[in-house]
Amino acid sequence: MHDDTSLTIARARRVLAERIIPAIYPQSLPLEVAAHPLPGEPIAPADGLALDYCPHTVGTEWGPAWGTTWFRIRGQVPTDWAGKHVELRIDLGFDTSMTGFQCEGQVYRADGHGVKSLNPRNQWIPVADAAAGGEDIELFIEAASNPVLLEHHPFLPTAQGDVRSSSPTPLYTTKTMDLVTRDLAVYELSLDLEVLLELQAELPEAPRRFRILQALDDALDVLDLARIGDTAAAARAALAGVLAQPAEASAHRLAAIGHAHIDSAWLWPLRETIRKVARTTSSMLELIDSDPDFIYGMSSAQQYKWLKDQHPGLYARIKQAVANGRFVPLGGMWVESDTVMPSGESLVRQFLYGQRFFQEEFGITCHGAWLPDSFGYSPALPQLMSRAGLDWFFTQKISWNQTNTFPHHSFDWEGIDGSRVPTHFPPMDTYNAQLSGHEVALAARQFRESRRASSSIAPVGWGDGGGGTTREMASKAQRLKDLEGSPRVSWEHPDSFYARTAAELPNPAVWVGELYLELHRATLTSQHLTKAGNRRTEQLLVEAELWATTAATRTPYDYPYQELDALWEAVLLHQFHDILPGTSIAWVHREAVAEYARITAAAQALITAAQTALTDPGDVELVLNPAPITRNGIPPGGSCPLAKLPAPGPAVTAVQDAYGIRLSNELVSINVDTNGLITSAIDLASGRETIAPGQCANLLQLHQDFPNQWDAWDVDAFYRNRVTDLVAADSVELSTDAEGSARITVQRSFCASHITQELVLAPGARMLEITQHTDWQEVETFLKVAFPLDIRAEHSIAETQFGYLKRPTHVNTSWEAAKFETSMHRFVLLKEPGFGAAVLNDSSYGYDLTREAADARVSTTVRISLLRAPRFPDPHTDQGLHTHRYGLLIGADIASATAAGIALNTPERRITGRYAFPPLVELDGEGLLLSAVKLAADRSGEVIVRLYESLGRRCTGMLRVNADLESVSTVSLLEEPLADGEPVFTETGHVELSLGAFEVRTLRLRLRD
Ligand SMILES: [Zn+2]
Repeated sequence: MHDDTSLTIARARRVLAERIIPAIYPQSLPLEVAAHPLPGEPIAPADGLALDYCPHTVGTEWGPAWGTTWFRIRGQVPTDWAGKHVELRIDLGFDTSMTGFQCEGQVYRADGHGVKSLNPRNQWIPVADAAAGGEDIELFIEAASNPVLLEHHPFLPTAQGDVRSSSPTPLYTTKTMDLVTRDLAVYELSLDLEVLLELQAELPEAPRRFRILQALDDALDVLDLARIGDTAAAARAALAGVLAQPAEASAHRLAAIGHAHIDSAWLWPLRETIRKVARTTSSMLELIDSDPDFIYGMSSAQQYKWLKDQHPGLYARIKQAVANGRFVPLGGMWVESDTVMPSGESLVRQFLYGQRFFQEEFGITCHGAWLPDSFGYSPALPQLMSRAGLDWFFTQKISWNQTNTFPHHSFDWEGIDGSRVPTHFPPMDTYNAQLSGHEVALAARQFRESRRASSSIAPVGWGDGGGGTTREMASKAQRLKDLEGSPRVSWEHPDSFYARTAAELPNPAVWVGELYLELHRATLTSQHLTKAGNRRTEQLLVEAELWATTAATRTPYDYPYQELDALWEAVLLHQFHDILPGTSIAWVHREAVAEYARITAAAQALITAAQTALTDPGDVELVLNPAPITRNGIPPGGSCPLAKLPAPGPAVTAVQDAYGIRLSNELVSINVDTNGLITSAIDLASGRETIAPGQCANLLQLHQDFPNQWDAWDVDAFYRNRVTDLVAADSVELSTDAEGSARITVQRSFCASHITQELVLAPGARMLEITQHTDWQEVETFLKVAFPLDIRAEHSIAETQFGYLKRPTHVNTSWEAAKFETSMHRFVLLKEPGFGAAVLNDSSYGYDLTREAADARVSTTVRISLLRAPRFPDPHTDQGLHTHRYGLLIGADIASATAAGIALNTPERRITGRYAFPPLVELDGEGLLLSAVKLAADRSGEVIVRLYESLGRRCTGMLRVNADLESVSTVSLLEEPLADGEPVFTETGHVELSLGAFEVRTLRLRLRD
């Protein structure tokens, strides 16, 4: 027999596209359209409905960037359409390849009820399944003219990313606003053909494929192209046989969940996300009503809260759908946050605020963490997830790795403390699945655990900018339930998937340590002001809670629950995975910087109020220590009159000559040359030199930084090939201050930029602290500061949440080589047996490491990533003034590096009051650190104390409570009793503690009044 395969496929594709799909809507009538353009910010729907409307001619332009145009559409169903399925078709000027990234609309009835949304892949509005004829129609569309920012060359600089610089000219032209009839048989035929065409393309040259091809030909033979509607049923009958063939017994199974990954801000501002969430959820509720099998999942308590506050009618319908099990809250977090940069306490609050919202609003505790798109995953997460009631973890982002293919799809992920959490990466490699034949076949083909496990997850729907699942996707899912040659697809709660997988994989593979994303490495550095704002505000809120708790348990002071909750929610929102990573448009980062200033001021006010309550008005100068380390003899959470502080050590000696300046105290001696570079840093006790031979530290280096794509996200490995050392200084000046510190002020000018550095050595300090003010006027340039260390380090030791992680310094394998830019929190430590040094920072998260060897002597260079200047999506990223504080700790181990990092980030406070006060709790035990002291989120007045083991070893310790303690219990991160919580009863008011390596322990204290 001749091979007609390509003939059949081409025939089916053409008839489908040119004849069948257009015949889905056989009749149409134009609607009466009027419009009211609003160039500024959105208005409430009730106000939009009440606007004055002027006639709008379909085919004319509308919508400047970021504007809103309200359309009013009116019509009447003709009487001779009685019995027909009637809809509206609205094309606002859509590009079907831009769903979520283009104009969108929300449809309202005149009574304010949100009907559903309009987007490029969802252009219909329901009128009647079977019209009576004569129905009057009046609907309103709130149309958002959001500009397209990811175009065909997607990463060009654009001024459209901020309403302050965007173009006022209209961006869109209305194309269609019609009343139509919909022929259901033709619609179903179009899906039959599409599913079979896509399926056969994935099949081997085997009988199943040929039977499908023949059925396609048979169907097309009975289809009269002049009378598609009349012959569609016969064509479907010709396909029914091949569509009825059941899947193979061993077919892969896809646990589908309707989804729209809506970025809480990205190429649109936060205010637009609120509307995006409303638009998508209204369409998903419509699909839930029309398809009894469909289940929709949505993460991020913040997104639900926006709807609760601003769209209560819609929210009430969501609540009902959640109660019915059809709308599934996912993830148990406040937002889908970055997980690499937030502090440990911030990640705890992501879970606490997220889970509590879902509990209070829906009576649901989420069982899994849902982070499909964040840029790498901290190894602190497994412990935090399991202590927050989350038994599973989901992401797909690691499939974006540039270099290495991750070896598992269903496995256990082990964190720094040894906690393991069942984890799944969908082998479809997407969080925006369309359920195409290619996607479902790819899932089955790639799934790594097929020897034992049967299924994988498919998140189905348009994402990023929203849109969600379409009725066409749902129709495909119906056909793929049980179809020969295809994986089986069924809508399913992810909890069921993880339960099945746990049964199928009793001994899953284990991945230990961070889930490093081999891409988007520059997100640790882009938008420095956003990074600095996060670091400051998360620290200030923890401090505010400490003083407020101490005051509330001792004085009539009222704990500011509401204010703290609101401030935490704002900080948590800005940890979203396109805000904190610095990858949003200029508008988002402009607002983020303003928001961090507001949070900072509000937190400072709370701190002042609590401290005032604790000390009463007076004129004693007091020093307060908010840090979880003892400083100047003041314990964490305690205070001391300034006059009683221990005398500072001898003043630093500073000697200046023609070769530079030597600073020394009793611990270290540091040489700074005439260019302001550190040529020597000696630990006096051991005589060890810290700086690599012939090298200089505090060396600022510029790199050309023009990645191949994703400018704000990526730095490509070739960036290292071009480097400019900023050696020359404009001036190097020595000064001393009254407290005995010596200060070297270095000025440097280069290109259009200027840097002032102050290098300070204090009496009794091992750290040379550097404060750097940069007026940054470069573009596409990476600024780093290098510390070449005479240390043969096998690993870098970088702080992460509640501990640290080690990374090899070699690049033996492609896995290590790919980690050419990695994350830290407050310190990176390099050490060899007997000696180490650490680099500290106050607002940076990225560093890189290189290992050099000369004459068989290994040295290690660590560089802090300070600033970048990508031009997409914010064309002016990082331009202007920045302050960084960082330092070199000479002679360091993990404990001293941890303490120095804390000290740099948590300054002492000085106030005047009547008396000093002791801390509420005191913690003894080497390596044990307090993370939070707060009142319980349930507002019972009980005290929550969170502590952790920071050195990576088992330890014992003691918590002393300076109050009348009634009882103590170990609780979860959600502050709920733990079934297997270690009993911590004490008769002495002391709590004995025994913790594992990096363990995070949360205690709940009840005090007697
Ligand atoms: Zn995302």
